[in-house]
Amino acid sequence: MAAAWQDVVRDAAAVREAAAVAVDAALLAGVLMRTGEQPNASDVVNYAPFTLLPSAVPRALFEQAYAVQQDFNLLVDAVSQNKEFLEQTLASTIKVDDFTARLFRIYMQVLEEGLAQTVFLGINRSDYMFDCGLDGTAALRQIEINTIAASFGGLTSRTADVHRLVLNVLGKSEEASRLLPNNPAKGLALGIAKAWELYGSQRAVVMFLVEEIQRNIFDQRCVENELWNRNIRVVRKRFRDVFEQGSLDASRRLYVDGQEVAVVYYREGYVPQIYDEQNWEARLLLERSRAVKCPDIATQLAGTKKVQQELSRPGTLEKLLPGHPEAIARIRATFAGLYSLDEGEEGDRIAATAIADPDRFVLKPQREGGGNNLYGEELREVLEKIKDSPERTSYILMDKIKPQPALNYLLRAHSPLQVSECISELGIFGVYVRQGRELVLNQPAGHLLRTKATEHADGGVAAGVAVLDTPYLL
Ligand code: ADP
Ligand code: MG
Repeated sequence: MAAAWQDVVRDAAAVREAAAVAVDAALLAGVLMRTGEQPNASDVVNYAPFTLLPSAVPRALFEQAYAVQQDFNLLVDAVSQNKEFLEQTLASTIKVDDFTARLFRIYMQVLEEGLAQTVFLGINRSDYMFDCGLDGTAALRQIEINTIAASFGGLTSRTADVHRLVLNVLGKSEEASRLLPNNPAKGLALGIAKAWELYGSQRAVVMFLVEEIQRNIFDQRCVENELWNRNIRVVRKRFRDVFEQGSLDASRRLYVDGQEVAVVYYREGYVPQIYDEQNWEARLLLERSRAVKCPDIATQLAGTKKVQQELSRPGTLEKLLPGHPEAIARIRATFAGLYSLDEGEEGDRIAATAIADPDRFVLKPQREGGGNNLYGEELREVLEKIKDSPERTSYILMDKIKPQPALNYLLRAHSPLQVSECISELGIFGVYVRQGRELVLNQPAGHLLRTKATEHADGGVAAGVAVLDTPYLL
């Protein structure tokens, strides 16, 4: 991709001046995070890391990503309602992956009891990179779809203003005026509000299920405050609070600390480490309840890497979305090569190929949150070790996407100002609400651009690798 800011990126004085303005603008706009030292207090806070300059994104690919978002919403929702597909797809994984197995057990348990929940809310974020072909053209390739706790919709609602100011300071007011408005916080709140309304109890609250360590609280507050402004009450609770204060009444209405809960919005619950037996018990209580879970456990399972890989198998989308050939074509056009490592000839063959040429692939376990994937030599070593054991099936293989890097500055508190070679990942938020069998809301809800230095293969903003960015469409 052509570098958009070639003339200023090496101008040290201009960059220094713009960076100082940028940091203060981020603080003023509320692009904030709590500090590592005081993750649960707001007395001292810092700016969330972000790029000095917006990054170039090909307009056609940006539009393609928006155009396919409703299709992905539809697909995730369809997968979450397809017991047979989830069972078959995850059968090999749950034999070796304890975390997925435990989630799956809860899923089966709530189905056996019969769902009390009748309104369903999905908030997802489909992430993409721009794969650079041999002829230099870029293609949109989905990295993954996040169906639980997809974050940074709040903070990124404020980054375009910061970048607009930076471009003005750099004498690029014409370009500044072309940055798109973007407000995922509002879009996500709209979905939550719709689900709350359909749940149908004025007294009931929206519960944000939050982590023990809450550095990223401001991102969540952006969505919370949108709800308060609609006169919807919000409470923040941890799994531990639900264990201690949660109960169901005879019709499985959920009460936490005496308050009825209409919507549970998970910003926690996707990594195994946080679950002790009490938290698993709390999770089961939530899933059994009538409250709208965002996501319900089926939708969390629909977001696993194993499901993503099976979706790419010829014929699968046709089975899941009958009567939607155009949606299927749009979805499939974003898929990178994905490969099963299940036991058998197909898995043996691709494992051997990846061992011989590891730089072509990424090895992914069933984990979320960044920093779990394996690349290059490490991929080769691990695959070599597990290639003949059932453990292999807890992973999938994916083609490695190779975007064209561009120069930028990653602004991070207490870090020196230095130019980095960077690549970006575009996320599109989607929300949908289903009542019974009827989809009553299905729309894209804004975007997130995250950028990282090419020296890091993996990792998101929360993992301390990527930073917030704004797309500049070319
Ligand atoms: P997680 O659930 O941990 O976020 P991802 O699949 O999104 O897992 O991978 C984490 C990061 O690893 C991505 O943000 C991206 O930077 C990098 N990554 C993942 N898949 C690929 C790929 N196929 N090609 C290149 N980089 C990838
Ligand atoms: Mg990711």
